Amino acid sequence: MKIPELFEHKKPVFSFEIFPPKRQSGLDKIYDTIEKLSVCQPDFISVTYGAGGNMADNSTCEIASNIKKRFGIEPLAHLTCVNSSMEDVTEMIGRFAKADIENVLALRGDIVPGEAIKKDFSHANELAIEVQRNSGLQILGACYPEGHYESKNLREDIQNLKYKIGAGVKVLITQLFFDNQLFYEFLVQVRNAGIHVPVSAGIMPIVNKKQIEKTVALSGASLPHEFTKMIGLYENDPEELYNHGIQYAVDQIRDLLEHGVDGIHLYTMNNPDVSLAIYEKIKDLL
Ligand code: FAD
Repeated sequence: MKIPELFEHKKPVFSFEIFPPKRQSGLDKIYDTIEKLSVCQPDFISVTYGAGGNMADNSTCEIASNIKKRFGIEPLAHLTCVNSSMEDVTEMIGRFAKADIENVLALRGDIVPGEAIKKDFSHANELAIEVQRNSGLQILGACYPEGHYESKNLREDIQNLKYKIGAGVKVLITQLFFDNQLFYEFLVQVRNAGIHVPVSAGIMPIVNKKQIEKTVALSGASLPHEFTKMIGLYENDPEELYNHGIQYAVDQIRDLLEHGVDGIHLYTMNNPDVSLAIYEKIKDLL
């Protein structure tokens, strides 16, 4: 199924993101996770891709293929290019096609100083051009409601976003955010810039202290008062933080749905229990 076509016929499109396990031995666990997530009948499940370019270790293709074959759910395979040669990319696109994968999220990946040895690609739009030239894959791309950290400002980042659209990106998925107001303002600017593809909102539930220390601190996302209040009240009470973190994500999603968002993309962190708890509270609105 072509994911961009799904957005033409359904609103909201509801999807999950998972990441491959670090070791091959973790594959069974990820399939258990997908099985649990499948109860929610997501429109698609995306699988992240390591930016290091180690293709042999990369199980994105295998997992995405099994999402379709074993669970009958549409997969979206992520693909990064920052440390890949043209050959690497051609090979991976070929693997996707062979595995009957129809949709790819074309990404640059984060630049780790001193690590980028192969330099065939500078930006995600160049990868999108190559995917478009080399395959029949449908192309999706990333966007940043608060601007990408390398951009001078949001305006510049949105101008750069146009390169992706010009290169064939048909749907955008956002970076996580905790302040819906910033997402709404971003959407206005995106539309004013002449970008009219569907934009799915990336939501990450924060349910434990480790996530606060890592994800929240590193994401650079703005933290609205309601969010910091919740963290302040419950960060040392694991059970309450879990429940209130889920509720925060539910409230965010409900508000987005009321505002007619194109899609909800839930960053599951491979935790099906959290995703299921959220789904139970929003399923009537989907
Ligand atoms: P780009 O679109 O290339 O943008 C990077 C920067 O360059 C921005 O500041 C942009 O404004 C600027 N820019 C873009 N195009 C041009 C141009 N033509 N000329 C000049 N400047 C330009 N990372 C992973 O490693 N694996 C994953 O699976 C993964 N999945 C992700 C999923 C989502 C939904 C999101 C939002 C991010 C994901 N990332 C992933 C992180 C992503 O790789 C990083 O945020 C990376 O730093 C930027 O990737 P990009 O595709 O947005 O890059």
